[in-house]
Amino acid sequence: MKVSFPRMGHSHLAFRWLMEEIGLECIVPPEPNNETLDLGVRYSPEFACIPFKVLMGSYLQVAEMGAEVIVTSGGCGPCRAGYYWVMHQKLLEEIGVKTKVIAFEDPMCGIWDFIRKLNLFRNAGGVSIRHFVRAFKTAWEKVKVIDDMEILSHEVRPYEVTKGSTSQALQKSLGLLDQAKDRKQVEEARQEGLQILKNVPQDINRNPLKVGIIGEIYVLLEPSINQYMQQMLGDMGVRAERSIYLSSYTRNNTFSQGEQDVRQAARPYLNEKCIGGHGVNSIGETVLYARHGYDGVIQLAPFSCIPEIVARSILPKVSRELDIPVLTFFLDEQTSKAGVETRLEAFIDLLDMRREKRGIKSASLITLPTGREKFDGAQKLVAADK
Ligand code: SF4
Repeated sequence: MKVSFPRMGHSHLAFRWLMEEIGLECIVPPEPNNETLDLGVRYSPEFACIPFKVLMGSYLQVAEMGAEVIVTSGGCGPCRAGYYWVMHQKLLEEIGVKTKVIAFEDPMCGIWDFIRKLNLFRNAGGVSIRHFVRAFKTAWEKVKVIDDMEILSHEVRPYEVTKGSTSQALQKSLGLLDQAKDRKQVEEARQEGLQILKNVPQDINRNPLKVGIIGEIYVLLEPSINQYMQQMLGDMGVRAERSIYLSSYTRNNTFSQGEQDVRQAARPYLNEKCIGGHGVNSIGETVLYARHGYDGVIQLAPFSCIPEIVARSILPKVSRELDIPVLTFFLDEQTSKAGVETRLEAFIDLLDMRREKRGIKSASLITLPTGREKFDGAQKLVAADK
């Protein structure tokens, strides 16, 4: 059986390993590109949100590459994400594509359905339950290590002395993880990979701005949709932290009721358990970033995403009361790298000025589109390095 799945950041390394380990042929979806978007936009309803269109395009690409089955996640609650896989399947059928979409729903909403679907893949691969469970556990460890490495890379990048060295180190670390064949090797790759990242030469005298990135899960996890914003901020000398990673999201939402502290933080502004998507989280996480002394928050919202529109209408109040600037990006197929870069530069300037007013020496480093670099606090340090 030739199986594929939606691409989200580096998680395809773990998913591909799992598929192959249980005896299936894996079709790794290409990183979403212009062709993905063109296809997605052509075959999706006009007002579908950008994650729907990107997935539609991606499914058509993997179908073309020979995928017979696409594994995805379902969903419940007020957000239309729960219907995505049904609509994708219908659209594929209408176009005449025979690829099947199989969605895994939250096991707490139907454990037997979840097990039945797992068994379907186990039988297709022809492996024992024992082997399947072992492979599953190792793949889960890989997902966690991918996140650990990525988190550390975003912490290191604003301090790197040589531009691009953190990204190179991250690729090397992920390469080691990719070679790991069992949980022991995964742990070894984790330790070695994290060390490689820690060894990146850093200027620890910098005092980078701290920015939290919040919003809808897919546009947060797949960097090609948000124009590699987190990396871009790191390159500008800003320490950017993302509120969602795949491992923590899965852990918090599969067998428990989500992040209680985030919901509690959101309550004074939005006293609802769930408005769909990550609307409540976006409020709660902004409150928590403000409490933890972050300089600003960036909200990533797919165009026409109702949960994030609701959050967007409440965020100005949070921003005013907790004195934390919030910048919202509504992302769609028209979003360009240059547009994102320009708005980020203006936002960072604003945050730098706020720090200056408070007498805090900032250290952000903005790369202008021309390639010239405007240094703030770090200027002297970098000059001294030379
Ligand atoms: S949360 Fe927003 S973007 Fe995500 S599926 Fe729901 S409506 Fe679409």
